[in-house]
Amino acid sequence: MSQGTFENPTVVEEELDILLIGGGMACCGAAYEMMRWAEAVKAETGTELRIKLVDKAAMDRSGAVAQGLSAINTYIGSEQDPADYARMVSNDLMGITRDDLAYDLGRNVDDSVHLFEEWGLPIWKTDADGVRHDGAESIKEGLPMLKDGGKPVRSGKWQIMINGESYKWIVAEAAKKALGLSRIEERIFIVKLINDKNDPSRIAGAVGFSVRTNTIHVYKAKAILLAAGGCVNLFRPRSVGEGTGRAWYPVWNAGSTYAMAAEAGAEMTMMENRFVPARFKDGYGPVGAWFLLFKAKATNAYGEDYMVKNKEMLNDYPPYGQAAVPASCLRNHLMLKEMKEGRGPIYMDTVTALAKLRETLSPKEVKHLEAEAWEDFLDMCIG
Ligand SMILES: Cc1cc2nc3c(=O)[nH]c(=O)nc-3n(C[C@H](O)[C@H](O)[C@H](O)COP(=O)(O)OP(=O)(O)OC[C@H]3O[C@@H](n4cnc5c(N)ncnc54)[C@H](O)[C@@H]3O)c2cc1C
Repeated sequence: MSQGTFENPTVVEEELDILLIGGGMACCGAAYEMMRWAEAVKAETGTELRIKLVDKAAMDRSGAVAQGLSAINTYIGSEQDPADYARMVSNDLMGITRDDLAYDLGRNVDDSVHLFEEWGLPIWKTDADGVRHDGAESIKEGLPMLKDGGKPVRSGKWQIMINGESYKWIVAEAAKKALGLSRIEERIFIVKLINDKNDPSRIAGAVGFSVRTNTIHVYKAKAILLAAGGCVNLFRPRSVGEGTGRAWYPVWNAGSTYAMAAEAGAEMTMMENRFVPARFKDGYGPVGAWFLLFKAKATNAYGEDYMVKNKEMLNDYPPYGQAAVPASCLRNHLMLKEMKEGRGPIYMDTVTALAKLRETLSPKEVKHLEAEAWEDFLDMCIG
C-alpha cells in the first residue's frame, strides 16, 4: 500500500445515543440486553434510539473467546449461591476485590448461561444414572436444559464443561439478530475517546479509523460503553526460544480499554490485580480443565509437589493461605520458589492424571476424556 493511500482520508461523522466499543462477549451481551430496553422506549415514546456497535475485527471471531473454549468459568446453579461466589473471588484475589460487583455477577450469571444454551451452546450434562455426556451427546440424548433442572458437568466448584468450539459465533449471532446489521460496523479501530468541551469529566464521543478503507470515523454519543477486552504482553514473558512471543491471552487484546479510558481521565479501580498464569513446560496457559477435571498435579522438575513441599510459606498469608484452595497468586508464589532455586521447569503431570482416570473409567469414557484433555491443552496454547 503506498503512503499516499493514507493522505486525505474521508471523514465520516455520526451522532448516536449509545455507542458500544468492542464486539466481544461483553459488548455482545450488552447489545442483546440493550435492545430490549430500546424496544420498550420505542413502544412507549415512539423514539428510536440511535445505537451502534463498532468492532476493530469481525464479531463472529473477535475477542478472547474467539478460539473456542472448553468451559464456562462461573455457573452458580442450585448447589451454591452468589454470596459463596463473592467470598471465593475475594479469597482468590486476596481481598483486593469489590464484593458488591462479584455478588452482582453471581446473581445474574446463570441467566446468561441459560441464554447461551437457548442460543445453541452445547453444555455437558450428567444423566439420572450419574453418567456424564458431552454437550453434543446431551442434546442427542434429550437431557434437560439447565434452566429446566439439567445437571451440568462441573470441573471444579464453579466451572461447567461445554462444547465451546463455536461459543463466540453463537453469542455474536444473538447480538447481531438483536441489533440488526445496520447498527454494527466491523473493522473500525477506535483510538481515542473525546471529552465533552463543557464538562471534561464526561465523554462525548470517540474517534477511530477503518482498517480496510481510508476513512476516519467520528462518533458523537450520549453514552458509550467501552469494553474492548483485556491487555496482554505488558510484562515480558519468561518463555524463551520458540516460546517467546507466545502468550496465553490473545495478542490482539492490546489494552485499548485501559489506555483510552486512562487518557480520558477515568479512575481505574480494581487494577491492582494482574493475572500471571503459571507457566508449565510445553504449555502457555493455566489449562484449568487439566487441574480441575482431570486432577493433574503440578510438580517441579524432580516430580515434587511444590504445594506440599512449600506449604509453610502459606502461613505468612492468613487467611488466604489457609483457605481450602489458596489464592491463585499464592499458588504461583510457591511455584516461583522452585524456579528461582533452580528446580524448574514446572511440569503438569498429565501421565499420572490419565493413568488414574483409567482406573475408574471404561475404555470408551477414557478415550473421550483423552480427546477432551488434549483439545483443552491446545485451547490454551493459542500460538
Ligand atoms: C485462552 C483463553 C481461554 C479462556 N478460557 C475460558 C473459559 O474456559 N471459560 C471462560 O468463561 N472464560 C475463559 N476465558 C476468558 C474469556 O475469554 C474472556 O473473559 C472474555 O472473552 C472477555 O470478554 P470481553 O468482551 O471483555 O473481551 P473480548 O472478548 O476480548 O472482546 C474485545 C472486543 O473488543 C474489540 N476491540 C479491541 N480493541 C478495540 C478498539 N480499539 N476498537 C474497536 N474494537 C476493539 C475486539 O475486536 C473484540 O471484539 C479464556 C480466555 C483465553 C484467552
